Amino acid sequence: MNPLQLSMEEYRDAYQRITDLALQLISEMRKRPTFPNIAGKQSMERFAHRLLEEGMGIAALDILPDVIDASRLPSPRFFGYVLGSGEPIAAAGDLLASVLNQNATAWRSGPAAAVIEQQVVAWLAEAVGCEGYTGCLTGGGSAANLMALAMAREFRMPANDTGVSSRGTVYACEEVHMSIPKAIALLGIGRQNLRLIPCDGEFRMRIDLLREAIESDNREGKPALAVIATAGTVATGSIDPLIELAALARECGAWFHVDGAFGALAAIARPELFEGLALADSIVLDPHKWLYQPLDCGCLLYRDRAVARNTFSFTGDYAKSLLEDPLESFAYFEETLELSRRFRALKLWLSMRYHGLKAFRQQIENDLECASHLVKCIKASDELQLLAPAPLSAVCFRFVPREVALSEDKLDELNLKILTLVQRGGRVYISNATIASRFALRACIVNHRTTPSDVEAVVDAVNQAGRELLSGVQT
Ligand SMILES: *Cc1c(COP(=O)(O)O)cnc(C)c1O
Repeated sequence: MNPLQLSMEEYRDAYQRITDLALQLISEMRKRPTFPNIAGKQSMERFAHRLLEEGMGIAALDILPDVIDASRLPSPRFFGYVLGSGEPIAAAGDLLASVLNQNATAWRSGPAAAVIEQQVVAWLAEAVGCEGYTGCLTGGGSAANLMALAMAREFRMPANDTGVSSRGTVYACEEVHMSIPKAIALLGIGRQNLRLIPCDGEFRMRIDLLREAIESDNREGKPALAVIATAGTVATGSIDPLIELAALARECGAWFHVDGAFGALAAIARPELFEGLALADSIVLDPHKWLYQPLDCGCLLYRDRAVARNTFSFTGDYAKSLLEDPLESFAYFEETLELSRRFRALKLWLSMRYHGLKAFRQQIENDLECASHLVKCIKASDELQLLAPAPLSAVCFRFVPREVALSEDKLDELNLKILTLVQRGGRVYISNATIASRFALRACIVNHRTTPSDVEAVVDAVNQAGRELLSGVQT
């Protein structure tokens, strides 16, 4: 008797219940609150159970509705951070990927998984206008940024064989995502060697200041290691000037990396905003953001596979391929960070086959239009103030009361309170950003369920919370 082995009936029972729950959730996504009405202590009480010596059998599943009730849902009115919406066909594919349990690390450990991942990565590259790039899927943009910077370091200042410590400098705009300083720290490049370049009025890196910084570092004997452009900053979605940055990076021999974790997939709908993307040595995309895939699914694209191999290949004898055929001897562990890797590609491949690129293009277009609609509603509302241009789908704004003049600090305080009220309300979920040192409310639309009336609910909720707080102050 194998203790973990069940009968087919028992499996059917468990799978049926889980599938039913998933379908119910999909059908009720719009009705349920965007954020659970639960306190930290309550959530501990509900789920922090003691370790069971004896299993509960099928009754173990009874708690799943509680798990759903205590979850933040990818509902049409969730606009916080940059969170995709979990396309359900992809989610179903993920279940199958887990049952198949492939190790997507080499062709010989999973032929379909290895080929499908290479194919779907090529599709992503083609979809954003970067045909010919190869790469891999990752746990997310952070892992992909780390890998890209490791490649940049090894390309520009090879250390794997010589052990020479690098003294190069990495340049990015001051709006750069936190995963970049983290990667710098992990790679031992040293945070003092990450130079954050100020932005212009539209939150894009100032090329003149970048040039000055590179020249002054050069005079001190510090060569440029990498120039990082952000294509869609987290706060406002602004896109650094890619063509100019690529030219400057090339001029000084630096690696040119584009962090497009939030924005670059929007090139599927608006290629004109991303001209110069195909000049990058490496690009990060996040299908679990603006391609609506269930977590996790990031992607690193690179132009030169040899650099990836120089950076990541450390084949131990036991892992050496005994196969001659180039396809059959292909191994992701020779050009990526991980050895054991899950079959992430299946969900994405299935989702793209099912819907086709056109559907994704139209949906991204819809999200962009929802963001423009929100900007219009904010401009039309006499107590809301837009705080930054919104070239993609992140909209930053605040509530400024009509009849009382508040100081900037008081406005920050008021808007923080508004944010808490709106989030607690459960009708819409927004998050925040810092724009020119001021507190901003922020709504970001990367959701295949959102419609224009959903973004109107943001305006209503914020105005209502603002009014409510003001009347509380006055009484
Ligand atoms: C989200 C994001 C990342 C990090 O990606 P994860 O998938 O969350 O690890 C990096 N850069 C930018 C611009 C992002 O928006």
